Formats: sequence, C-alpha cells, structure tokens
Amino acid sequence: MHDLVIRGGLVATAFGAVRCDVGVAGGRIATLAEHIPGGENVLDAKGLLVLPGGVDSHCHIEEPRPDGGCSEESFVSASRAAFAGGTTSVVSFIPQWKGQGVWERFEDYRARAATGMLDHAFHQIISDPTDAVMEQEVPRLVAAGVRSLKVFLTYEPLHLNDAQYIRVLETARRLGCLVTVHCENYAAIQWRTQRLLDAGKIGPKYHAWARPSIVEREATHRAIALAELVDQPIQIFHVSCEEAAEEIARAQHRGLKVWGETCPQYLNLTAGQMARPDGALFICSPAPRTAEEHARNWEMIRRGTLDVVSSDHCAFSAAAKVGIDFSEIPNGIPGLAARLPLLFSEGVSKGRITLEHFCRLVATNPAKLMGLYPKKGVIAPGSDADLVLWDPTREVRLSNALMQHAVDNTPYEGMVVKGWPVATYRRGVQVMRDDVVTAEEGTGQYLPRSAYDMIRPRGVTPDGFLA
Ligand SMILES: [Zn+2]
Repeated sequence: MHDLVIRGGLVATAFGAVRCDVGVAGGRIATLAEHIPGGENVLDAKGLLVLPGGVDSHCHIEEPRPDGGCSEESFVSASRAAFAGGTTSVVSFIPQWKGQGVWERFEDYRARAATGMLDHAFHQIISDPTDAVMEQEVPRLVAAGVRSLKVFLTYEPLHLNDAQYIRVLETARRLGCLVTVHCENYAAIQWRTQRLLDAGKIGPKYHAWARPSIVEREATHRAIALAELVDQPIQIFHVSCEEAAEEIARAQHRGLKVWGETCPQYLNLTAGQMARPDGALFICSPAPRTAEEHARNWEMIRRGTLDVVSSDHCAFSAAAKVGIDFSEIPNGIPGLAARLPLLFSEGVSKGRITLEHFCRLVATNPAKLMGLYPKKGVIAPGSDADLVLWDPTREVRLSNALMQHAVDNTPYEGMVVKGWPVATYRRGVQVMRDDVVTAEEGTGQYLPRSAYDMIRPRGVTPDGFLA
C-alpha cells in the first residue's frame, strides 16, 4: 500500500522528534509507525533526520519589471536552489506597478511559476491602492487564492504613505488577508542618503549608515499601531534588530495578532562586510548589523517573538551591483539554498535552539501563518510528503556552486556549516539526492489559499470603532 517507506530515521513530527518509519502513498504521508513492513521503495534513514520540507514564505523569484525584464532567478533555477537546500514550497511576490492594476500581473505570474518545480503561493504587492484595485481586483485575487498583501513603507516607487497603508489594512480585514510589511522610514532614509551623497560618501558601506536601526524601529512601531487601530493581523518582515523586535514583543504582550520574521542575513552577516572590496554583494534591506545584534536576534527567536525564518531571497549577479554609488545598488541577496543549512548549523548544531524549534521556524510556522498548514510544514498523516533526509553530522563549506541558483555569488561563500540535506522529496517524489536535483520542470503546483483562522481579526479595536 506504500509507494515509499523511509525506515529508521529520527522524524521531526508535529508532536516532537520520534524514531519511526514514514509511509508515503499517493504523494502524501499515509503512516507513521514503529515499523512499516513492505513498501515499493524502501529507504534506510538510519543516522539521519527526517524533516518536513522547508516552507520559505518570503522569496523574490522571476519578478517581472515594468521595463519588460524580470529578476535573474527564474522559477526553474529557484526550484533547483530550493531543493538543494531542503525547501519544497515558497511564497513569492506578484508585483504591482504604479498606475496599473494587479489581475493581469497575477495571471502572468501564475504562468511563470507553473514552469518551475516548487509548490508555490503568492503575496500580492500593493504599491498603488486605488479604488479600482482595492474594490474590484483584490477581491478577485482573494477568490483565486491569494491571501496576503505585501506593503513597503520605504523604497521608491513602492512605498505607501500612512493613508494608503490604512487603506490596505482595511481592505485586508474585510476580505480576510494577512498583511506583510517592510518596515523602514522612507523620509528618514532619503534624508540620510542625500547627506551622505552630498559629503561624497558613496561606497557600499554607507548603505548601512543610511538606514540605522532607529528607522526600522520607528516604522515597525507605526505599522503595528495602525494595524491595531484597524484590527488587522500583520507580519513584520525581515526584522534585523532587537529595537524592532521589542516593538513586536510589546504588541504580542497586548494580545495583538502581530508576528515577526527574521532571515539568516540578520543572524550571520554584518555591516562590516559591506566595507570589503566586494561589499556590494552584502547589500540588502534592512542592512545587516553586528555580531552583538545577531546574539540579540537569537534571543528574540528563543523567546518566540520572531517565529519565522525566511530567506528574503532576492538574487542579483555581481555585475548588477558593482561600480555604482550605494544608493543605486539593487537591494537583495540570494539565500534560498543556504537558509536551512545556516539555521540548522548556527541554531541546532550550536545548541541555540532545539530540532523541534528549527522545524517550526523554517516549515511549520510559515505554513501556519500563510494558511498552508497542515498540507505543508509538518510530517503528519494526510500532509503532503514533502520530506528532507538530513545528515546532522556532515560538515560542508558553502560555495556558490552548491547554492545552485542563477547568480554568480553568495554572501555565505566559505562559511562552514554542520548539517546538510542528503535528499529532498516533494509530494513523495525524490527531487534531490547528494546535491543533484532531478525534478522535472513544470511539476510545481499552485497552492491556492482559503480563509484561515490564524489571520481572522480579533474583533477588538481601541474604541470599538470597527468591532
Ligand atoms: Zn523581500
């Protein structure tokens, strides 16, 4: 009755890590038992961990631009990178170009995603919340299974002012969507950037000078306060520092539906690296901080304030980033393949977090928050058989070749990690073994999302205005 039986591994399930066999039938987990006899294919997982396939809820893949181009990472190359690193599902971004609608973008983007091998859901970026978009097009998107709206409080030309942000919150509340927020203060960064450029300070390291922690903390506070006013659940993306995480902790303490995501770059990279000759390769926003800040971010992870670790994969080849002043350098670094190995090595191998906590951060929690659970993010009967066989003892020196993405650089080049994926299964099909990706193009499935409990408004506003 089983197409595949994985024997003797330590299985990270919803109820903790247990030594058991995993039986897969029809692409889904059918059985977890002490011993499963028979099976068409039998895999010996002795000495290995069996982990739920990673869910990366923040990836920029094949994002089209108004000029007709798109990001260098295609859905095919991103799928290779993801499987190489133990990730099987992603949530990526449909753009909105100012002055234009979103429905056409959704149809185009869905066709692009279908060429890859990853299972995928989408966030819709809102950069121009007009009546037509918010009243007519977004409801259509929701009906088509898009359940999260992404807003930027900085970046030209994406940033929203407070009135526009409130409009998005109100619409999301009415339609049943999560709102995810890039929190940095636009005007503050513009002001700092201009002063730096005026003074001739143009090197990559000034990227971090232009956007210190306070601009992130201020925007995080404002994003939360306005979400509280409207009673709309939000996730704060890529929290880089304790100052911003403390705003989230306070909101959670008050019982608000506010969640915090961080990324490997805020646990491993520093602003100091941007002073190197190849410093442009470390530019992302918010800017990487310091080793001391990494320690504080780990503490915020341990406390549960930050409960998702995504990659914010946004890959550019080196040629796109060099020879221009810091304010012109495109923001973003690749991290799709490195996410699980980095978090496992720095987290589990170094004793900062437990194996169960690791699984929650990279798979279970993002699946829950994005409305993909329990289809994704957990090893349980009925769930998709997205599995990673993981060798917790294997030491690997990270290199760009191992990342298998489309670009020529990784900011983690040369880092040694302990713990590495041996094989990846997507819906019961082996898609990677010993760093060789074998998935067939066009086999990734769209994951439409319906309404889910986690993001239902609390029904409480400061003065009962909307309740
Ligand atoms: Zn992003």
